[in-house]
Amino acid sequence: MIIFKAKRVTITSALPYVNGIKHLGNLAGSILPADIFHRFMDLFGVDNVYICGTDDHGTAVEIGALEEQLSPQEYSDKYYEMQKEIYKKWNFDFSFFGRSSSSSNHKITQDIFLSAYENGYITKENIVIPFCQTCKRFLPDRYITGTCPHCDYNRARGDQCEKCAKVLDSQDLKEPRCSICNGNSIEFRKEKHLFLNLPLLQQKLQEWIEKQEHWPDNTRNLALGWMKEGLRPRCITRNLQWGVKVALKEYEHLVHYCWFDAPIAYISITKDGYEKGAIQENWKHYWKDSAIYHFIGKDNIPFHTIIWPAILLSARDSEQRDTNYQLPYFVQGYEYLNWEGQKFSTSKGIGLFSDEVSDLFPIDYWRFYLSSVLPESKDSNFDWDDFQRRINNELIANYGNLFYRVTHFIKQNFNGCVPKGQLDEDGAELYKKLHETVAAVEDHVSDVKLRAALSDVFAFSADVNKYFQEKRPWEQKNAYDVGNTIYAAVNLLRSISLMLYPFMPSSAEEALKALGDENKEWDHIEDERLKTSDKIEAKLLFKKIEDNDIEKAKKYVSRYVKSSDKSGIKTSGKIIEEKEKIEMVNEMIPIEEFQKLDLVTGTVVDVKDHPNAAKLYIMEVDIGSETRQIVAGLREKYAKEQLKGKQIILVANLEPKELRGVKSHGMLLAAGDGTLLCPVEPVANGSKVQ
Ligand SMILES: [Zn+2]
Ligand SMILES: [Zn+2]
Repeated sequence: MIIFKAKRVTITSALPYVNGIKHLGNLAGSILPADIFHRFMDLFGVDNVYICGTDDHGTAVEIGALEEQLSPQEYSDKYYEMQKEIYKKWNFDFSFFGRSSSSSNHKITQDIFLSAYENGYITKENIVIPFCQTCKRFLPDRYITGTCPHCDYNRARGDQCEKCAKVLDSQDLKEPRCSICNGNSIEFRKEKHLFLNLPLLQQKLQEWIEKQEHWPDNTRNLALGWMKEGLRPRCITRNLQWGVKVALKEYEHLVHYCWFDAPIAYISITKDGYEKGAIQENWKHYWKDSAIYHFIGKDNIPFHTIIWPAILLSARDSEQRDTNYQLPYFVQGYEYLNWEGQKFSTSKGIGLFSDEVSDLFPIDYWRFYLSSVLPESKDSNFDWDDFQRRINNELIANYGNLFYRVTHFIKQNFNGCVPKGQLDEDGAELYKKLHETVAAVEDHVSDVKLRAALSDVFAFSADVNKYFQEKRPWEQKNAYDVGNTIYAAVNLLRSISLMLYPFMPSSAEEALKALGDENKEWDHIEDERLKTSDKIEAKLLFKKIEDNDIEKAKKYVSRYVKSSDKSGIKTSGKIIEEKEKIEMVNEMIPIEEFQKLDLVTGTVVDVKDHPNAAKLYIMEVDIGSETRQIVAGLREKYAKEQLKGKQIILVANLEPKELRGVKSHGMLLAAGDGTLLCPVEPVANGSKVQ
């Protein structure tokens, strides 16, 4: 029986910033383990929700939108949809995947702020902020560039110098410039802003954190370390357009800093999910009468253990508003997952990204591998050879092969039906072990030690493997013994598959389906549910990773590898769009291969019918340095007038080719049914396409 204590559980994973696509490290350090934990709660029959969504506000979104010539709303709509699609591929079972820009989040944030204000936790202070007179906007420090006062590096950022690594204030920079327009008309303006008075809450927080003895050590120690240094008031407002407007007179031109409204979105996403019918139980129960579990990365620990609880405490006991929400029950802060010994980096393109991995191997391989290296108590590392080894030697050798051998044996020898059998002495012994394994998994899941829970299951699977090997049913003469062995093995495989379900939901579901028993109740995990003559299917769940598969994967170049773009936002968006059009296959080429192509823009200056071919035109194309004659099969699709003056893309370094007697010195690019590809805006003829 399940010993899980809480009657209701609320699970959240850190809200990913809406801009950009998340790398594997981001998933391993919050979304994946939260999903596993949530699926265990479902199995245990615990009333629970899993809440996630995008963090839509903030300067990065405003600037990203500016670069893509979209409004912040359009920009975040676009990336919200993209992220949602990616997470579907990963099989993340959110109760609701919402966003921090929803109207309910605006409302709840304003309510919490006003309660905190009335309770006396908000103070007003003057601060100095850079303002660009050309862009007519306030800028955060990191959007100011100038000369570092310490090392004279002339492209230092206003928050930190990249060269000498000193933390800066944009006012320290010599010759400050605006990073958006590159102009130098920067003015430093003094303005009143609002602060959350954290020192007033220090005592209460300290007492509360000290009581959280069930938290993981890394989380609790980090929080206590921060408390020791003493808390300072923290500014909660910004001069931006995009965000939650401050609902206080004289401050209505400001919005809340996005870190203020982002965690509140955990609550409002639950409300949105409830109102849209995705969550059945009243949303308030999950924030007023529930054990709240936050799954986050290490860098988010101080925020979720100190600042977020401080926000909640500041809004308590309001006489005017219903803003009494519970403090977190559990904060699981993950350390970092590294990529082949290096830090993941979106800007440097180190590592693989959440939308790329399924190009290489099935999602459940990734879910399994990442689960087995979750950085629970220290940093862990992704390593291709280790990936191959664990998939082949653990997932497949230990579970996948056993599954196939047993189900195949039943197909061959018993016409696909569970044979007559009962537990022999060894079988009964294994059921005792199953009982212990189930108890160990329950304990580990209760402590959010998911890695340990996974290895419990595999240790047990190894025992069943050993049993099957030693009984050698393929050599046994006695039909009675064979029946008993197979009966025990196939029933135990059902229990193992169900225990693996939270980690690898789609493979486990496939396995349970093949066994003809899709029951997902933990209460029945130790039952011998498969009975004599139940129909089952032989199933190969996984395919071994061959050496050349892994060699190919090692050569895979992340499409986020790029150089120039400063923010990393614009380029990644473009790259993703291309990806959706081109079906990616396992046969990857290194970027150097692609760069061999000389793709240039050119304008069609003349079009004639080909004298000997009804489908071909002869076209003259101006590519800047020269005019090329090319032959193209566009006659059925376009009239000559439609083509004249059009800018097209030409492969300029193809060997000339004769088509029905006319030489073609290049090839233009078209897609699908022969639709011509053209630049959206005119560019100089001869511009290189990259
Ligand atoms: Zn500017
Ligand atoms: Zn410097």
